[in-house]
Amino acid sequence: MHIFAIANQKGGVGKTTTSVNLAAALALRGQRTLLVDLDPQGNATMGSGVDKSDLPRSVYQLLVGLATLPEARLRADAAGYDVLPTNRDLAGAEIELVELERRELRLKEALADHAGDYDFVLIDCPPSLSLLTLNGLCAAHGVIIPMQCEYFALEGLSDLVNTIKKVHANLNRDLKIIGLLRVMYDPRSTLSTQVSAQLEQHFGDKVFKTLVPRNVRLAEAPSYGIPGVLFDKTSKGAQAYLNFAAEMIERVQSWKE
Ligand code: ADP
Ligand code: MG
Repeated sequence: MHIFAIANQKGGVGKTTTSVNLAAALALRGQRTLLVDLDPQGNATMGSGVDKSDLPRSVYQLLVGLATLPEARLRADAAGYDVLPTNRDLAGAEIELVELERRELRLKEALADHAGDYDFVLIDCPPSLSLLTLNGLCAAHGVIIPMQCEYFALEGLSDLVNTIKKVHANLNRDLKIIGLLRVMYDPRSTLSTQVSAQLEQHFGDKVFKTLVPRNVRLAEAPSYGIPGVLFDKTSKGAQAYLNFAAEMIERVQSWKE
């Protein structure tokens, strides 16, 4: 079981879109996949076709110790993967968690007993470096960082990289940056191509080969409660995430060799 956190403390950079579409693309490629929604906004839950206003249990109960993974997860039938869903209850968990023992390891421990259930677990993190994100980073083997190729993109990156280094040093020796994923890419924009080239220069093979273009079909899909890769499989956005899934599968296979 490979566990990846999709993280970037900036909002609106494509974390949820990447989580939902990578999960669906991995499932299409035959991988048993779980998507964990760690953002109280519940966008990944809704985008997977699961109604966040009608959850028997959620990741909140799991984190505070009131539910196990089998009790809290749901099958997202249309999407083809399992979801550990969330809703606003999770916003309160931050405060409750502070009081609890091993507060940053709650997600890790909840997943540990079910390592055989999945090939991939993806964790959609909230737009902050909060205790929730920390739970995501402690549970994960690696971090996927979606980013837009715009002028300020690199600025926030160093905070995230430092946080990942600290978590690696103190809490989770397994954690590494798997890669930076360029999203909402516009090949006609000079800035996009310049920042993209800069990223490649700085981070080398930590930059994924796949480029996800700006594509309206990816933005439309959530309102239908279905991942973009299934909503319009022929769209450029869907094709990009299908390629990204293949790239991820190749990566994890290369670790075994
Ligand atoms: P985050 O989870 O980081 O806050 P989202 O995935 O919710 O970011 O994306 C922010 C907004 O951008 C959403 O409205 C989403 O539909 C849109 N979006 C994300 N990726 C793309 C893309 N490749 N093309 C077009 N719109 C996108
Ligand atoms: Mg999000």
